[in-house]
Amino acid sequence: MSSVVLNDVSKTYADGTSAVKELNLEISDGEFLVLVGPSGCGKTTALRMIAGLEDISGGTISIGSRVVNDIPSRDRDVAMVFQSYALYPHLNVFDNIAFGLVLRKLSKAEITKRVTEVAKVLQLENHLKRKPRNLSGGQRQRVAMGRAIVRSPQVFLMDEPLSNLDAKLRVQMRAEIARIQRDLGVTTVYVTHDQTEAMTLGDRVVVMKRGLLQQAGGPQELYDRPRNLFVAGFVGSPGMNMVSGVLEHRDDDSWWVTLGSQALRVPESVLTERPALRGYAGRSLIVGIRPEDMEDAAILGAEEGQVLKSVADLVEAMGSDVLVHFPVDVPPVMTDDIKELADDDAVAGPNVLSGTEDTVLVGRFSPRTK
Ligand code: ATP
Repeated sequence: MSSVVLNDVSKTYADGTSAVKELNLEISDGEFLVLVGPSGCGKTTALRMIAGLEDISGGTISIGSRVVNDIPSRDRDVAMVFQSYALYPHLNVFDNIAFGLVLRKLSKAEITKRVTEVAKVLQLENHLKRKPRNLSGGQRQRVAMGRAIVRSPQVFLMDEPLSNLDAKLRVQMRAEIARIQRDLGVTTVYVTHDQTEAMTLGDRVVVMKRGLLQQAGGPQELYDRPRNLFVAGFVGSPGMNMVSGVLEHRDDDSWWVTLGSQALRVPESVLTERPALRGYAGRSLIVGIRPEDMEDAAILGAEEGQVLKSVADLVEAMGSDVLVHFPVDVPPVMTDDIKELADDDAVAGPNVLSGTEDTVLVGRFSPRTK
């Protein structure tokens, strides 16, 4: 059993900084859970508390069936992989991987067997005699992974392990970490500020902001049903377009959102899925439109109420997709307001902006409909 449970876990540093506030999480046996959020949101602190590298100010953390609050890091049976890799520069790859096993006084034969196995999984067999300074970034990262894997811990804890790698290698190693975790089935908590990494790796993703859990769910769930504006804006690239509008209930029982001088009809499906929306008639709200949910009206022949009129002012061809930027005379929602509104419901409103500046929306199209 290697589930990890956090019950009302808080951390206040000596200088009074409240880094994590009453965090509740149940990470099941074998699950790959990603903690994601902007710099300073408390994700590293949360991970370090699970690792036993940071005292817990309040609440309890359990690993398996044990409450570990007062158990020192070395006795928690967790292995941590850091962004910096933390390899011993004077030891070769074999000895770096073997280090934890030597400390545990395993036999030489057992150590050789385990290190060889792990080196094979990580394709490091040919580099066992090299020192870290003679390895590439990706290879160093593998050695750091090897050191964690070889101990067969109950839990892997990873703190931005890919952030020192270049973009291409990061994608490769990301896939490798996913594969290794799946094969080994070890409960994993992974910290990153990169939403793409979070969405691609996590069985479940926990979005944090200012020490508070914003939403926990499967990647698709977060994408399709963000619980607040912060999550809506944080997940997805390019991000969700957000504009402010007014909800209108017309005499013929149709529902519309007025966006500047234009109006969009609210589809029945949206009203059915979110019945609470009916309570907002006549009020300001924020409309979120994913770039890929836009289509080219000229090609597809859209009906009234489905069209925002505009002329594209920038087209970015990316091969598989084309990003089209187009201005509309719709009040924008500023990023700062999104931050401030983060704890409100996605359909919310008293402090919605009403400006008249032009907004640029981004649409994502397949090259055929350019
Ligand atoms: P990053 O991605 O930048 O590492 P993070 O989301 O991992 O950020 P933490 O490192 O957990 O965030 O920090 C959370 C908050 O706690 C921040 O405001 C940070 O400044 C503060 N903090 C972290 N370590 C300490 C410390 N030792 N003493 C005081 N405050 C700290």
